[in-house]
Amino acid sequence: MTDRDDPAVAWLVRELRGHLRKRPKRHQVSDAARHADALFDANTASLDTSHLACGPGCGSCCCAQVGAETAEAFSIVRHIRETRDAAQAEDLLNRVRARAGEIAGMDPGQRWEAQKPCVFLHPEKGDCTIYPVRPLACRGYNSTDLGACRTSTETRDHGHPIPADGEWMLRAMQLRHALAEATARTVGANEPDEERELHAAVVFAADHPDELAWTRGRRKG
Ligand code: SF4
Ligand code: SF4
Repeated sequence: MTDRDDPAVAWLVRELRGHLRKRPKRHQVSDAARHADALFDANTASLDTSHLACGPGCGSCCCAQVGAETAEAFSIVRHIRETRDAAQAEDLLNRVRARAGEIAGMDPGQRWEAQKPCVFLHPEKGDCTIYPVRPLACRGYNSTDLGACRTSTETRDHGHPIPADGEWMLRAMQLRHALAEATARTVGANEPDEERELHAAVVFAADHPDELAWTRGRRKG
């Protein structure tokens, strides 16, 4: 999925790889995702937000299909294990596994119609419980029309138009491409990992004993 010809992506790949070289190998992959998150936040800090309808507790878009890079999934699993005790972390990861099974094979339209929210969405507060490490896809997603979001949810119509600021989405997509490319080059793989649905990606990361083992296995491929 990488766009190696995009100069912005190429710059971000260099920036991420430069950062990765300085990180301990044990958490190199999840650190790459975290640096990509920090770059996104810095790159969007000066953008106008006054026209955006998004705000805390407005999470009906969290029933949408979200894609995540492998590095992002490792970052999320690491965050879950660092911020919860072992039993709570396992309980949450089991719920991720269950939801991944429920939505496996659904296309984005079917997922929207099913209205099965992301497991990380707080059921009462409506906010993201992994906010600091949420995927770039979530960071970039936005709407300038809350009414359009509500209509899309009520009708379960994935095709209902949602006006949005494309600049946020573009910058998130460029960083996703760069993160996938930088991760692949750092672990010595020929191609970037495939993008996975968020729950499936988190299950994949949780099923690997540690990032370093995944890195070594990936290099052999
Ligand atoms: S995209 Fe729509 S539903 Fe999602 S946070 Fe923004 S306004 Fe709310
Ligand atoms: S990770 Fe957070 S922001 Fe993204 S879909 Fe899930 S609850 Fe929503």
